[in-house]
Amino acid sequence: MSHFHEVRFLISAAAPAQFPPDVGAEVAFVGRSNSGKSSAINAIVQRRALARTSKTPGRTRLLNFFELAPLKRLIDLPGYGYANVPEVERRAWRPLIDALRTRASLKGLFVIVDSRRGLTPADEGLLEWALPAHHVHVLLSKADKLNHGEAASVLRAAAPMLSGRATAQLFSALKGTGVPQAQDTLAAWLA
Ligand code: GDP
Repeated sequence: MSHFHEVRFLISAAAPAQFPPDVGAEVAFVGRSNSGKSSAINAIVQRRALARTSKTPGRTRLLNFFELAPLKRLIDLPGYGYANVPEVERRAWRPLIDALRTRASLKGLFVIVDSRRGLTPADEGLLEWALPAHHVHVLLSKADKLNHGEAASVLRAAAPMLSGRATAQLFSALKGTGVPQAQDTLAAWLA
């Protein structure tokens, strides 16, 4: 069962001044385009259309804030490490991302990584971006596409890259694999 019952869209922020007040707790979801991030968000908060909001044309390059409960927020970040994102856009995000990083409310990051692809240097860069105070949890998504042995080896291969400070799990929005674990992690960080 979902921990969150009154999920609502708050704002698509194009500038730090538009961020909601820095009170309470929030967790950011990040993943390259097509990683399965929207599907993961929808599965975790059990709202089918939630992350579709973030895919609305014009919102894909913004920070999309959702309220999961009073003073508990989920932030859908634009895709990163994505080869065809023009440099000029990347430069435009930088102040946004940097402002987010230092918010007292930001408790951690969920990093969504296609399990067939595994962690890449761009994902590792995120681990460096996160402050020591931030939790980091990696969802190895679309795990239904792997057999048991493959899934186990993807999880094993991820471990050394997490530098002992991040956690990882297998996840499938399609099959529901790992959804309760992800929900519990998110709820614990937001508590
Ligand atoms: P986003 O671009 O990172 O938000 O990714 P989406 O959630 O839109 O998913 C990208 C593609 O991967 C879509 O075609 C989804 O149907 C597919 N996908 C997402 N999650 C899963 C999953 O758990 N299993 C499988 N097999 N496909 C998935």
